[in-house]
Amino acid sequence: MEPRQIIEKLGQLAERYEAELGQASDEQAIRAGQAAYLGNKGEVTALQKLMKDIEPKARKDVGRALNQTKERISKATDKALGEINQRRGREYLDRHVDLTLPGRPPVGVGAMHPLSIVMYDIVDVFVSMGFDVATGPEIETDYYNFAALNFPQDHPARDMQDTLFIKEGETLLRTHTSPVQIRTMLRRPLPIQIVAPGAVYRRDDDPTHSPMFFQIEGLLVDEGVSFADLKGVLEAFIHEVFGKDVKLRFRPSFFPFTEPSAEVDIQCIACKGEGCRLCSQTGWLEVLGSGMVDPNVLQEVGVDSERYTGFAFGIGVDRIAMLRYEGISSIKLFYENDPRFLSSFRR
Ligand SMILES: [Zn+2]
Repeated sequence: MEPRQIIEKLGQLAERYEAELGQASDEQAIRAGQAAYLGNKGEVTALQKLMKDIEPKARKDVGRALNQTKERISKATDKALGEINQRRGREYLDRHVDLTLPGRPPVGVGAMHPLSIVMYDIVDVFVSMGFDVATGPEIETDYYNFAALNFPQDHPARDMQDTLFIKEGETLLRTHTSPVQIRTMLRRPLPIQIVAPGAVYRRDDDPTHSPMFFQIEGLLVDEGVSFADLKGVLEAFIHEVFGKDVKLRFRPSFFPFTEPSAEVDIQCIACKGEGCRLCSQTGWLEVLGSGMVDPNVLQEVGVDSERYTGFAFGIGVDRIAMLRYEGISSIKLFYENDPRFLSSFRR
């Protein structure tokens, strides 16, 4: 075949291929068609095999025509495949997607847990009074949870009924945040002024008690700290959380690690002291325990109890939350994590 004839033939092949592509209905037909031209036994390939017999002068022109033809066929193939894909996509949507359906509601926005809200708010109040935040482990030893805090060996709090032991007499889930007092005094130089928020565990289970609940421990140790300082700090805290007009009272109590000890009541926020169901007709609500750090505890951690004094307090976060969000019937609601309950709180 003459070079001129080959070039002519190549042009015809490209045109014919493009015309045939219009008939191809699926990818398989297109691929087969392409192979009939560019495959090992394809018509274009057959013409390419003639190259070696062409006189060198004309070889360049035939080579260019050959490349143009291959490129034309490849481009036409890609275009046809792209159109088939688009058509398939449209068909899929028509079959499987009903564009007339209403849209899905957006994913709900998360909110902070009400106990976290209350915990952060309480910690903020004390931080603004100069307290640092300290933390400690939830799995404790008997020493940090009881012995160092002046609990006698036979104290009822150590009893199996209250404490969740991991190994009785050795390791346990902390029953209060007070071990953080000991850990902090052993680690930090005096003076110390900390609050320690965290989870604590007891064998309690009824509408007002959960086996896991949250406390915030407070500790201040320095020279010349008196009960008046304790009263001042706790009054400021109560007024910040419950309002400036809320009355409070200190009621003598007993804790092994404080002497003297006092429980703090606030005037019932529901009845303003008249007496109601919330306050069991007493007009008062217990909100926290406190006292002057027992000299035995200071001596246990090597603090000179002649020179230094301190006070400590423990606040029940769940208790404060139930008072702040009136109408919560059971402490369990805080731990069931029903989104409908949780989403009703905003910080
Ligand atoms: Zn009341």
